[in-house]
Amino acid sequence: MQAPIGIFGGTFDPIHFGHLRLAEELTESLALKQVVFIPTGWPPHRNRPQTPADHRLFMAELAIAGNPHFSVDAREVRRTTPAYTIDTLIALREKYGDQQPICLLMGADAFLGLPWWRRWQELFDLAHIAVAYRPGFPRESWQNSMSALLRQTLETRLGSVQTLHESAAGRIITLSITALDISATYIRDTLQAGRNPRYLLPDAVLDYIHTHQLYPANPE
Ligand code: ATP
Ligand code: MG
Repeated sequence: MQAPIGIFGGTFDPIHFGHLRLAEELTESLALKQVVFIPTGWPPHRNRPQTPADHRLFMAELAIAGNPHFSVDAREVRRTTPAYTIDTLIALREKYGDQQPICLLMGADAFLGLPWWRRWQELFDLAHIAVAYRPGFPRESWQNSMSALLRQTLETRLGSVQTLHESAAGRIITLSITALDISATYIRDTLQAGRNPRYLLPDAVLDYIHTHQLYPANPE
């Protein structure tokens, strides 16, 4: 039995307390060894993020500074071609070996998009998935938004904290975390409207945003 490593991907444009609480609470409830934050480089499933990858990477580093369980991995940011999670996981599997449990962390909205990910069913050969509920995607209605195949995948792979520690990959677990209705979209919109999003994200990240004028206010 080995403590799983959590892998947390996102555009993090910018990283905020919703992300950090998800990582912190899943570290505790799943007894993770560590969480590796992986900012996306060129995400295949959505419009390209408006903020250059290097800035999103620095903001993630500022946000996790001082937490010995958290680290940031720049591998997707450094790619010049679209980075697919399947490729990242193949590389991480080589790095950590066959026995190490690896667990992808994501919010409930991201899980709903899974069927659009490249070779998504093969992800379960390489990792577990831990899904955290997120405001706007409540536990009760969440499953109704899934395709039949995704719902069936969830049902057959449903595991427990123990099974996540006992095998290297293949299980899904769903967890409630402190509901924080924070999104990067809201933070960007707030800044672009000339308002202050402080207390939704770390001060160091907000200072960085101001220094580099990342989401400038739109002229009236
Ligand atoms: P955007 O509004 O630009 O989509 P976001 O706030 O959703 O940004 P992402 O970088 O898209 O942040 O999300 C990365 C991961 O974090 C996803 O798996 C997402 O579900 C999860 N996540 C983001 N915000 C929260 C939150 N407030 N609570 C729980 N999970 C969250
Ligand atoms: Mg999002």
